[in-house]
Amino acid sequence: MAAWQNASGGGLNPFASTKLTAPNHADGCGLKWSVINGRSRKTSVALNRDPLRSLGAPSANPSKKSLHKPKISSKLRIMLRRLTRTSGYGLMFHHFHQPGARFGQGSITADRFADMLDFVGRDLFLPAEEWHQRAIEKKLGKDDLCITFDDNLMCQYEIAAPVLESYGLTGFFFIYSSVCGGNIENLEVYRVFRSEYFDSIPAFYEAFEREAEARLPEINLPGRMKDFNPADNLQSFAFYTAEDKRFRFIRDDVLGPEDYSLVMDAMIAQRGLKKDILAQHLWMDDHCLRSLGKKGHIIGLHSYSHPTRLCNLARETQAEEYRKNYEHIAQAIGVKPTSMSHPCNSYNRETLEILGELGIRVGFCATMCEIEDRGPLEFPRKDHANILREMGA
Ligand SMILES: [Zn+2]
Repeated sequence: MAAWQNASGGGLNPFASTKLTAPNHADGCGLKWSVINGRSRKTSVALNRDPLRSLGAPSANPSKKSLHKPKISSKLRIMLRRLTRTSGYGLMFHHFHQPGARFGQGSITADRFADMLDFVGRDLFLPAEEWHQRAIEKKLGKDDLCITFDDNLMCQYEIAAPVLESYGLTGFFFIYSSVCGGNIENLEVYRVFRSEYFDSIPAFYEAFEREAEARLPEINLPGRMKDFNPADNLQSFAFYTAEDKRFRFIRDDVLGPEDYSLVMDAMIAQRGLKKDILAQHLWMDDHCLRSLGKKGHIIGLHSYSHPTRLCNLARETQAEEYRKNYEHIAQAIGVKPTSMSHPCNSYNRETLEILGELGIRVGFCATMCEIEDRGPLEFPRKDHANILREMGA
């Protein structure tokens, strides 16, 4: 019998005396509002005690877009002003695999998942509905935890949900809708490619940089990376290696979505692979969402197409991302969603307004960074990789 099938909670509680991660205001922390010429910049911003003002903290050279201040309804204004420092937080999970299968970075088995729940302490976890309700009523204790899953992956449905159910627990599942109807989003397909078709992740990174240099010489990749210092990037994601940070910097800051796809699609084609084959059985469909909903799990928003830098999008585009996401989920499960998580931890003041207008009551960040005047759409989450580190695994 697998460990998770007879686990009954208890175990060490590494959180009982652990404070939230100290603020470093990097990457998704105090810097998320700084949009300069359409690109995010990692500059320090002064956080303000007034939530409405702190949500729109000034950048050094704000674009017209960031200066745009839409009218806020009085109801929403009241809601935003009621924001208080929250307690309670979520654990954030993504990928799971069967024992013996090839797997990508950060992926865990059902047994490892159960070990993690035991290590943290079964008694600290609340069922999703109860956590959600307490969050709305501001009745969460500091050690009230919930379990969350992003990106509607089929492995969560097949491997993680049964473990939760064996513990009598339910979780939040945050869904990006575009893939539920058979569309393919590159994000996950590229992950499968780099995880399953290279001997190691560093081997992939090497091949990727070679291809980017050959295909896009005008970008001058060696020149752009000359002064790159991993320590200055993704500071709140301590589990990333220097190579992981370098890759993400090239992907998001040097190439951007179009050039990144160009390079990755070329690599995939060179190996004679097809993206629709790589995408088979990757994501849940509406049937899975309905099934999870019926079992008491909460289905929430995660944007429509999962942009990696949603905060750089125009307000109308952001609104469209969440409106389509909202409508799909409401239609798929027959219940209006009231929770969400920010894809790639990317959001700004306008995102929170859009979500508030949709009736979203509880939202999650992707880090434990402290945020001054944290609101109910900014609950912290601890990445499962940090739990593994605490376990010494
Ligand atoms: Zn995501």
